Amino acid sequence: MSVYQPDMSLKAKIKRRITPFMARRVLKPRLERPIVSFSFDDCPKSVIENAIIPFEQEKWRATIYIAMGLCETENHLGLHMNQGDVKALHEGGHEIGDHTFDHIDAAQHIASEFMANINKNQSTLNALGLPPSQTFAYPYGQVTAELKLKLASKFIGSRGIRSRESKDDIDLNQIRANRLYAGQDFDTLIEQINHMGGKPGWLPIFTHDVRENPSPYGCTPQQMMKVIDAVKSSGAEVLTMADAIKKMELTHEAN
Ligand SMILES: [Zn+2]
Repeated sequence: MSVYQPDMSLKAKIKRRITPFMARRVLKPRLERPIVSFSFDDCPKSVIENAIIPFEQEKWRATIYIAMGLCETENHLGLHMNQGDVKALHEGGHEIGDHTFDHIDAAQHIASEFMANINKNQSTLNALGLPPSQTFAYPYGQVTAELKLKLASKFIGSRGIRSRESKDDIDLNQIRANRLYAGQDFDTLIEQINHMGGKPGWLPIFTHDVRENPSPYGCTPQQMMKVIDAVKSSGAEVLTMADAIKKMELTHEAN
């Protein structure tokens, strides 16, 4: 199965280094207690049994960045959720965020096409009885300065895939987030969670499939349990991406 890769040319790589410094919407939260937000992208069905069910036992809620065009399809991440799964997650109090309908690469489409694909995702969710999504995640983490500005008027925050330290300032137009992948970053993530108490900040985490023998973009159920335990011991509050942003905006205004 071939897996789509974004443009790896030097020009594209330079652009990816520069865009985080453009069209920023900076938030400097002042928190008394650290916040962790979990997000799941695309979204594989294995997430329900191996992440959502254990989360609900802790009374935690997650953010699902859904590309509705992937519903019931199968790829390197396994089988994806169906429309009923998405509706049930919303009814269970989880946040359904936008991830475009067809999971498209922002660098390969003009802005109007990209926005139309987001609108298609939103009308599909609307037809299921869901409210408009409050946050967005860029497929492949691909983003342009033009889109950062356009999405700022549509979503309270848009998430990328570049990692961050929990105490860093936040660019709401390209929120940095940390990978929960089975490979080498796993121990780094656990360490970050363990050290959250020092200066309370926000640690957004993202992954894809959660299953035995996961893709390189996912993790095992055992690793998910290890992260849940680490978050519990850290004393952090677990909020959806939208709830975390709203809470931090209140502390920002109080500065
Ligand atoms: Zn994705």
